Amino acid sequence: MARIDVSLVPWNDAPLPLGLEDGWASTYVTQRIEISVDGVRLIDLAGADEVIPTRVTPFDTLTPAEALEVLLGQAQYPEDFVRRRDVPLLLCPCGEAAEGSLLATLIVTDESVCWEKLRWESDWPDAPATPVCDVIQFHRDEYTSALTAAARLSEEFGGRSTSFLRVREFDPGLRHRLLRRWRGELADRLKHFDIHVVELADGPWKDEVDRLVDSSMNLVGLIPRDHRGEPHLPAGSAAGEIIRHAMILLESTESFRLPWPTLESAQWLLKQLRPPSGRA
Ligand SMILES: [Zn+2]
Repeated sequence: MARIDVSLVPWNDAPLPLGLEDGWASTYVTQRIEISVDGVRLIDLAGADEVIPTRVTPFDTLTPAEALEVLLGQAQYPEDFVRRRDVPLLLCPCGEAAEGSLLATLIVTDESVCWEKLRWESDWPDAPATPVCDVIQFHRDEYTSALTAAARLSEEFGGRSTSFLRVREFDPGLRHRLLRRWRGELADRLKHFDIHVVELADGPWKDEVDRLVDSSMNLVGLIPRDHRGEPHLPAGSAAGEIIRHAMILLESTESFRLPWPTLESAQWLLKQLRPPSGRA
C-alpha cells in the first residue's frame, strides 16, 4: 500500500500575461494543494520536469467539496473529456482537463482505493496517451482522511495571497525602447529594484522575502551617481557588494516571489559587472 500526503505549496498566480498592468509588473503568489505518494510529488511521479509545476489538482479547478467528491469517486469530473470512473489528478489551472491531464481510473473497494492506468492524456490530435504507471493502491481510510484534510486546507488557505510584490515596468514597445536609450539602460533598470510590497502575509517565507526586498533596495543605494545624478556602474572591488546583493536575489529559495523584471535586471547587473571569463 502506498502512503498519501497532502500539503500547501506556493502557487504563482499570474492573472495577466506576464503580470503586466497599468505600468506595474506584479508577482502574486497564493497557495495550492500538493498531493504526494510515498513522499514523491505527483508532478515528479508523473515525469513532468518542472520546478514550478504548471498543472494543479482538482482542488484548484473546482470547489474544495466538489474536488473531494471527484477524488473519492462520489462524483464525476464535470467535463465530457473525462470518462466515467476516471479522475484528473493534475490538470491545467483553467480547469479544462482536455488540455492535457494526468488521468487515473479510480477503483474504490471497502478496504482500498486504487489509481489504475495513470497516464497523460489530451484531446490534441496525434497526441497519444502517455502511460505513467499501472497501479497505485492506498488504504481507503488513509486516502479518505488525507483528501478530506486537503479539502479543509484548500477551503481555508487556497487562493489566499501569501505575497504580492510589484515594480514599475512599461510595455516593451517602441516608446519604452526610446526611453531606455534616452535615459540609459542602467537608469531604466534601477526602477526594477525599487520593490513595492503590496502584501506579505505571515508565514515561514516572510523573513526571507523581507531579506530579498532589503537586498533589492540596497542595490539602488549602492549604485553611485555622477555629478548630474546619473547612475553608473563601479568597477573592481566597489562592485563586490552589488554582485553579492544581486546573487541573493537570484539564488534564494523564495526568488520566484520577485517580479520578473527584478530577476532579469539582477542577471543583467551580474553580466555587466562580471564579464565572461577570458574577456575580463
Ligand atoms: Zn487551460
